[in-house]
Amino acid sequence: PPSRPAAPSLRPDDVFIAVKTTRKNHGPRLRLLLRTWISRARQQTFIFTDGDDPELELQGGDRVINTNCSAVRTRQALCCKMSVEYDKFIESGRKTPLAHRWFCHVDDDNYVNARSLLHLLSSFSPSQDVYLGRPSLDHPIEATERVQGGRTVTTVKFWFATGGAGFCLSRGLALKMSPWASLGSFMSTAEQVRLPDDCTVGYIVEGLLGARLLHSPLFHSHLENLQRLPPDTLLQQVTLSHGGPENPHNVVNVAGGFSLHQDPTRFKSIHCLLYPDTDWCPRQKQG
Ligand code: UDP
Ligand code: MN
Repeated sequence: PPSRPAAPSLRPDDVFIAVKTTRKNHGPRLRLLLRTWISRARQQTFIFTDGDDPELELQGGDRVINTNCSAVRTRQALCCKMSVEYDKFIESGRKTPLAHRWFCHVDDDNYVNARSLLHLLSSFSPSQDVYLGRPSLDHPIEATERVQGGRTVTTVKFWFATGGAGFCLSRGLALKMSPWASLGSFMSTAEQVRLPDDCTVGYIVEGLLGARLLHSPLFHSHLENLQRLPPDTLLQQVTLSHGGPENPHNVVNVAGGFSLHQDPTRFKSIHCLLYPDTDWCPRQKQG
């Protein structure tokens, strides 16, 4: 068709997508992702969890990584996972000359539109230092840096991308982060500023390296009112999310073959609009 956009110059393999999850979410959350968007981005998607699950390993093979981080919701445990995600991405570039050019992180309540993601990333030159995502605040945060052993306390202001909306880093920028991010140093960096994992990424990129977050409106977390996203733009978004059982009304407003009861997160409905040839999707109307 004449309206079709030019094929992106990036290949799916150029992007490493890290999904952060935890053992108790394998059933309630990850299963849905595996049946939907991950099924269309299998080779490039890596699942970072904290407990063994033979059934999941059977499906995901060596793309399921048990981080051995603790399965509790503490800054340390979450930073531990981010640190393993980072190390796996860097390591993936050592083994093969065709290294993934991009690192993207998402949570297990995100839907990733792999096509939109490639399209967005292909607008950047791989040699640029790119940090791309949605800020959760409308202003930069201020953190206090404690210099180890010393009494010097300085403050630093920076933007960070919400982990729950997903964010991406170019390989070049990720490599420059290595003194503060690789092999466990991510955790000591986070301790120095006492910040969660996603803020710590912003601190390293903006505060320490002097690079900038590129604010993108195409990434979405459930901190937003997802119902307000215009229905005719949903298929162009890069990531979506849902409010979960605690906030079941915070979902995207998509019409489709599935009721709210059949598809409470709306991810199945989105997936069937993007990939109508999926075997479990409602049949397309003829003519
Ligand atoms: N998570 C985790 N360990 C935990 C709790 C949560 O790794 O002990 C992960 C979870 O799988 C998800 C992310 O952290 O990818 C955010 O968790 P959730 O969506 O439950 O909470 P939010 O911070 O978005 O309210
Ligand atoms: Mn969440």
